[in-house]
Amino acid sequence: MPETTCAIVGGGPAGMMLGLILARCGVAVTVMEKHADFLRDFRGDTVHPSTMRMLDELGLFAEFNKIGYSKVEKAEFPVDGQPVTLVDFRRLRQRHPYVAMVPQWDFLDLLADAGRTEPNFTLRMRTEVTGLLRDGDRITGVRYTGPEGDGELRAELTVACDGRTSVVRREAGLRTRDYPVPFDVWWFRLPRNEDGQYSLIPRTGPGRALIMIPRTGYFQVAYLIPKGSDAGLRARGLDAFRAELAELIPEADTASLASWDDVKHLDVQLNRLPRWYRDRLLCIGDAAHAMSPVGGVGINVAIQDAAAAARLLYQPLREHRVTVSDLAAVQRQRTLPTAITQGLQRILHRQVMEPVMAGAEITPPGALVGIMRRLPQLSAIPAYLVGTGVRPEHVPVPARR
Ligand SMILES: Cc1cc2nc3c(=O)[nH]c(=O)nc-3n(C[C@H](O)[C@H](O)[C@H](O)COP(=O)(O)OP(=O)(O)OC[C@H]3O[C@@H](n4cnc5c(N)ncnc54)[C@H](O)[C@@H]3O)c2cc1C
Repeated sequence: MPETTCAIVGGGPAGMMLGLILARCGVAVTVMEKHADFLRDFRGDTVHPSTMRMLDELGLFAEFNKIGYSKVEKAEFPVDGQPVTLVDFRRLRQRHPYVAMVPQWDFLDLLADAGRTEPNFTLRMRTEVTGLLRDGDRITGVRYTGPEGDGELRAELTVACDGRTSVVRREAGLRTRDYPVPFDVWWFRLPRNEDGQYSLIPRTGPGRALIMIPRTGYFQVAYLIPKGSDAGLRARGLDAFRAELAELIPEADTASLASWDDVKHLDVQLNRLPRWYRDRLLCIGDAAHAMSPVGGVGINVAIQDAAAAARLLYQPLREHRVTVSDLAAVQRQRTLPTAITQGLQRILHRQVMEPVMAGAEITPPGALVGIMRRLPQLSAIPAYLVGTGVRPEHVPVPARR
């Protein structure tokens, strides 16, 4: 039976980053991704200062810079006609003090291309993991379906990076603790002619909110709807929806939405595994903790998980002696940053998203506006939490170039 040292399930941000770093550290890895390419649009596009610092450490920033992206340097909120800066990335002491808006497929292609130059790196596209191999309680690899049919791959460690609906997590019998989320997302494109700016702060109207991600030639729109309201809202008809949209986005051509098929419904989840591992199996990224889109931080958290896992595991993997306590160390390292980030998302869900979904307008509390106007340097705190994150990671030395 074919073997690898580390089988990584899922070629999203967590899986690709983990695969690249481990391969550069001398560990044989196989990354399995069920799709044929990275060209799916239901992913965020935000690359944060701490991720760009990791790209510097990997020696990939120059390549990344060729992709062509727009920069988000701050988040402002208009109050009485005057903008109040709530988040200012320029205040971060980072080499790249901004969020780069990069189509995620370009970012993943960059990591895949870098991986392919490493002799220890294997990427299998169109390979869907369907189950786990076991020896008693120990996980010894994966079952998959690929272009050549069904197969099995033995591995000393299996890492689930297969996202919010992780098959590996389910097969391993690991159960998440779920937190309430007041909204789902409708995800669709609108053509645009002129340059648009991404804002971390949604555009809102009574009971409505949306985020627009500027991509070449179109806006990718994330339109927030109350949880469970998808069918009811669709029943009101496409014309009613287009009219609402035109109020929120007067600069876009809403007539281009030809049918409800153009509007995808995404179920937003927020959850976390109490235990991220079993003997020879580890979950990271959304497979361990599904992130809400609020704040646009999920990609960064997944990448930080990957860097922490690679740093703590490359030595034991190289020496073929990974233990349960090595895997527990990864969870210990990453639980606090994840719990704090999700805690902030839950506060924003309760304090901002729930009232907005119920029809209220969002305005920052007057006291907060006053404080931010008097002490603008405080805008560095949310910038740090979003752009750098709690307990930021570095690329381990053997993987640096
Ligand atoms: C509507 C929405 C908008 C968001 N916007 C943003 C944003 O702007 N910025 C941000 O930072 N975060 C955003 N997030 C969160 C972000 O998308 C996730 O936190 C992040 O993608 C997690 O990365 P990951 O690598 O863990 O998982 P994923 O990105 O979900 O990647 C999992 C990969 O595994 C593959 N896969 C799944 N099952 C299998 C299988 N059985 N076999 C093989 N491969 C498999 C999938 O095809 C996928 O490529 C958003 C989330 C939602 C729901």
